[in-house]
Amino acid sequence: MIENELNEMEFLRIKKNILKIRKRIEEIGEELKIDCSKIKLMAVVKNVKLEMIEYAIDSGVKLIGENRAQELNERFEFYKQKKVEVHFIGHLQTNKVKSVVEKVNMIESVDSVKLASLISEQAIKLNKSMPILIEINVANEKNKFGFSFDDVFENLIQISKMSGVKINGLMTVLPKNKVQQYFQKIQNLYIDISNKKIDNVEMRFLSMGMSSDFEEAVKYGSNIVRIGRSIFESLN
Ligand SMILES: *Cc1c(COP(=O)(O)O)cnc(C)c1O
Repeated sequence: MIENELNEMEFLRIKKNILKIRKRIEEIGEELKIDCSKIKLMAVVKNVKLEMIEYAIDSGVKLIGENRAQELNERFEFYKQKKVEVHFIGHLQTNKVKSVVEKVNMIESVDSVKLASLISEQAIKLNKSMPILIEINVANEKNKFGFSFDDVFENLIQISKMSGVKINGLMTVLPKNKVQQYFQKIQNLYIDISNKKIDNVEMRFLSMGMSSDFEEAVKYGSNIVRIGRSIFESLN
């Protein structure tokens, strides 16, 4: 429920931002003759007020990205009520695994074998199998989490044997100065893994691209774009 004019303006701004992003994705699809109709637009909601999140959902967003277990806890009931899909995308501390596994549809930020095994254990207790993405640190940046290209395969095989998780693809946060080669490199890795037909690995999602680089990411096969600022900040 929108209660006053100021909120109405905020709502329209968010709605406009979302339409603009969707239109851009559509245009890229037409330009490159690729099917972009199944690309998921995720609203990333770290530090965003609940009201604003509601406006995004009321503007058609069906997928929410949460970075923090604490914020996820606070909003869990709201998401359930709104019937949106929720993915966890932040670095997940081992002591938070329990509370997160039961609240999300997917954990995109699996950055260690240890974390995967804890998720698996917890999911088994809940009688489910948790869809996960394997996070890749494409440029081996020290301040980022994720597997490197060099060791991703052996770790992925190990994780694929855990019965409480299902590997559904890859996720990455690209470096700020995104050299073109990284987009290509991760797309190649995604295709390589698909072609290997590993048991319990089904490459369905490549989660790549944020406000600053989603257009480029889509050109390289991304089918989940994770957008925060371009939806929620006023960009005049
Ligand atoms: C914050 C964040 C995003 C969104 O970034 P914006 O630049 O605000 O679009 C996407 N993915 C992850 C993992 C994030 O932490």
